[in-house]
Amino acid sequence: MKKNILIGGAWPYANNSLHVGHLAALLPGDVIARYYRAKGDNVVYVSGTDSHGTPITVRAKKEKISPEVIANKYHDEFVKNFNDLDFSYDLYTSTMTTYHKEHVQKYLRKIYENGFIYKKTEEQDYCPNCNQFLSDREIIGTCPHCGGEAKGDQCENCLTTLNAKEVLNKRCSVCGTNTIQKENTHLYFKLSAFQDKVKKLVDSHKNIWRLNAVKESEKFLSQGLLDRALTRQLDWGVEVPFDGFDDKRVYVWFEAVMGYVTTACRVLEDRGINFEEFMKDKNTISYYCHGKDNIPFHTIIYPSLLMAIDEELNLPNFIISCEYVNMNNEKMSKSKGNLISINELVSLYPKDSIRLFMIANGPETKDINFSSEDFKLIHNKYLVGVIGNFINRNLSFLNKKFSGKICEGKIDNDIISLTKETYENVGKQIEEGRLKSAINIAIDYVNAGNKFYSEQMPWVQVQENIEAFNNTTYTCVYMMANIARIFSPFIPDTCKRINEKLGLENNCIWEEINIEGDLQVQNDELLFQRLQ
Ligand SMILES: [Zn+2]
Ligand SMILES: [Zn+2]
Repeated sequence: MKKNILIGGAWPYANNSLHVGHLAALLPGDVIARYYRAKGDNVVYVSGTDSHGTPITVRAKKEKISPEVIANKYHDEFVKNFNDLDFSYDLYTSTMTTYHKEHVQKYLRKIYENGFIYKKTEEQDYCPNCNQFLSDREIIGTCPHCGGEAKGDQCENCLTTLNAKEVLNKRCSVCGTNTIQKENTHLYFKLSAFQDKVKKLVDSHKNIWRLNAVKESEKFLSQGLLDRALTRQLDWGVEVPFDGFDDKRVYVWFEAVMGYVTTACRVLEDRGINFEEFMKDKNTISYYCHGKDNIPFHTIIYPSLLMAIDEELNLPNFIISCEYVNMNNEKMSKSKGNLISINELVSLYPKDSIRLFMIANGPETKDINFSSEDFKLIHNKYLVGVIGNFINRNLSFLNKKFSGKICEGKIDNDIISLTKETYENVGKQIEEGRLKSAINIAIDYVNAGNKFYSEQMPWVQVQENIEAFNNTTYTCVYMMANIARIFSPFIPDTCKRINEKLGLENNCIWEEINIEGDLQVQNDELLFQRLQ
């Protein structure tokens, strides 16, 4: 029976270029999506650009351009990055679309009707000169701890995190006028109502979610869930669908995380499937792929929102939360200038090298260190030394001796069993989100091919026993055809090129492929060049 598979890749924020850390976090989603599609399941793989919020508006003000220009610039760049690396999203959109906005508003109203959103009026800092309420970041003043210059949310001097209520001598950061207190009404989401239910969810996934996700969620829960403000004093974002909120927008934490719902709705709508039915189906499995800094949004806030919409909706089954990529043993950061952007990476290396590195050597359970030396090592070891070598040693010999013509032979029985086992074992690891282990099993399969080739010594067989030679060759070509399927979730472009060499159709189907009859292969160019 076909399964429903929902895969959500984290929504990158449109304020900076994507770097290797983003790639490490997002690539597992594409591998999982490609695998389930090859199995014939009903896959919905979605993501988009998170385009709203204050960092973009603050920057837009500084650069004297509209926030939309900034958001569009990065959105276009992200789309190009994902295309360059063969990401296979069913939909990659942006939070700026009308569809997203309307569906965020629809679900916000639904959650309100279900009693999990309330209005709260509080005194807030207001600039009488600019005629507007100020967010914490738009306030400057004096730190109550050290007397230094502070912003509304943090002291610049002693770096203590602050609450605008405790800051002294508060002034507007734009015009310097002293702030006054004025009543303001915001919407709040009753996150506190979900403490027990989220705890149950986390407890029941202790051995399924990644360890960092379980630990981080438990830490968050132990502090007790607090209600969260749902609206913000801003004019850039999704409009609040209630009277009296014209000067506010929906907080980014709500609408960006709801992006999984709105994009899945959109994809399913095109397929004539109702989103809520899909999400209530017991046959639905969901995966969410992101970095560890994003864990609570996916394990606590998002499930709470889903439950607030309807208790029957599918809650995250797998949390694929990766660790960090460090650069030469230092944390990557913009200020240190040691970020490697995807733009840069793609200009330096072949896409499948990048994909293989990020899976085989990615930060699945612990931080990794990225260096170009490691990168070249992995490329030369696996792509050139194992996969490239197996394909090339076979095909170049056949080309030289027989102009690429291969006579039908008997495929080795042990290799057939190993092939079937490999599909099963790689598949199981992918389904459980252990992609490193999955790709290692796949690489072992090619190693077995290289070993078989060396043991059979076809260069001797060709002179002494042509039948044995044909059997060896046919077995190796059979393995190549299966390599092109087994590796297709990881390095799809390489698999396509292998199929071209073999004259086979590039069908990514997750089952053993059998070859029949005489074949004609070609080996015009090497799959991979060694990186120096
Ligand atoms: Zn002002
Ligand atoms: Zn201070």
